[in-house]
Amino acid sequence: MFRYLLLACVLLALNSLSAQTPPSEPSHADILRGSYGPYRANNDLLSYALDIRVDPVEKTISGKNTIRFRMLKDDGRIQIDLYENLNVDKVLFAGGNLKYRRDAGAVFIDFPQTLKSGKTYSIDFYYSGKPTYGERGGMLFRTDPAGRPWIASSCENPGSSIWWPSKDQWRDEVENMTISVAVPNGLMDISNGRLLGSKDLGDGYTRWDWAVSYPINNYGISINVGRYDHWSEKLGDLDLNFYALPEDIEKAKKQFEQARGMLAAYQHYFGEYPFKRDGYKLIQTPYVGMEHQSAVAYGNRFTNGFVGKDFTGVGISTKFDYIIIHESGHEWFGNSVTAADISDAWIHEGITTYLECLYVEYTFGHDDYLKYVNSYRKMVENKEPVVATRGIAKQLNLDMYTKGALFMHTLRSIVSDDAKWWKLLHGFYQHFKYQNIMTEDVAAWFSRRVGTDLTPVFNQYLRHTAIPKLELRFDESKKEVSYRWRVDEPTFVMPVKVGTPGNWQVVRPTTEWQTLKTSIPPADFTAATDLYFIDIDKR
Ligand SMILES: [Zn+2]
Repeated sequence: MFRYLLLACVLLALNSLSAQTPPSEPSHADILRGSYGPYRANNDLLSYALDIRVDPVEKTISGKNTIRFRMLKDDGRIQIDLYENLNVDKVLFAGGNLKYRRDAGAVFIDFPQTLKSGKTYSIDFYYSGKPTYGERGGMLFRTDPAGRPWIASSCENPGSSIWWPSKDQWRDEVENMTISVAVPNGLMDISNGRLLGSKDLGDGYTRWDWAVSYPINNYGISINVGRYDHWSEKLGDLDLNFYALPEDIEKAKKQFEQARGMLAAYQHYFGEYPFKRDGYKLIQTPYVGMEHQSAVAYGNRFTNGFVGKDFTGVGISTKFDYIIIHESGHEWFGNSVTAADISDAWIHEGITTYLECLYVEYTFGHDDYLKYVNSYRKMVENKEPVVATRGIAKQLNLDMYTKGALFMHTLRSIVSDDAKWWKLLHGFYQHFKYQNIMTEDVAAWFSRRVGTDLTPVFNQYLRHTAIPKLELRFDESKKEVSYRWRVDEPTFVMPVKVGTPGNWQVVRPTTEWQTLKTSIPPADFTAATDLYFIDIDKR
């Protein structure tokens, strides 16, 4: 149930049961989309100009993406991605048609001459068709309760190429982009970035033009087409823009007030909202939520918790709107700091789940923080490592969220000095903002700043299934307790508070036995499991 709820809220998979099926071998398409192959690695994205028309009646999209890139080596071929069910109409380069070969979701494009390293090129990729919407996302063609078209994209798991031609991977981002979406008159499109304006095309359609002035990951790009009402506010000098269906505008005005507290909390911990030039937007959508950059998708029914439910079951979730707090947290981790491979998506989901906990601490206090972060323990499965196999377009697993957050919480307890921890967190974000990074980068950064090699700790929590187990063996006659970690990482060392609640002492167990004198009876001797995500084996 918790998995169902949590996955649903972030992945909009309201009827998904696929997370419960055993992991299958990656398909050829998963490898083509997930790996950073030679025809991706030979170029660096500079910009996209996506220019499409959306037909709500036929449920089709048609148009083009102008892709600008710089070659990193001499080569005559690049890989762009587009789901097989969508048509490639033509690919133009310098006025001529390019040859291409389709292989599953990949489109290998050949140039008539060698493209030169260091030079910039641009292609116009024309496409059309009916994008799909599966359990984990895609392009959703719906009508709103008043019967008007309501269309929205969401593609963290299936990838951007489910609805538009793109270099559908996480490592390489464009520096900026424009998004132009033509929709029937009376509807509007809301996408990422700033609204440049709209233009009546004279054929019953109006084109809405948006400009993104920051790097943006592919799955963060979205369209939201509907009959929207809009209002704007300011938080300091940050522009806030809110969009809701006309019938829901009063409810939205009340619920969306939480955006201000959310922004205040995250700016407190990490620094300025990352996409200030583009502003912050919250947009009502027909699905539950998604972290689209500067254009957060909201469908949480204007209630607190997750669709009104206390989904972590300790009375904290219902104090705030999960979708506003979680999805917007991704502006810092997911959109600004981005993982370079979907295998390391805990950098998005685990750290953002930890951001929820920080929001709780900032807003409701430390006791609620502890209650809330530990409420995620019962959702951890420990069935597969948090960090998945590199180079495979694989679906996210729940432990990336829950165990990822509990790992960050444990790291705070390892540091065991909150003033230092807040500085570390702020510094970590500031160091990596607007970059695409891997788990190794996170481990190396914290190790350097904390002054001890934390790699075995990162590895144990993120690259093995089991969490550390603290083994305690008592010798009552000698008033002694022996302790060590039972872990997979042979060089694992982690301090932990042991003793009795309110009277802890810090020990530094390794994988070798050490002994401590204690007058605490074995029945009372324990460890601070609310501060560290660990198991205890006491005998
Ligand atoms: Zn998320």
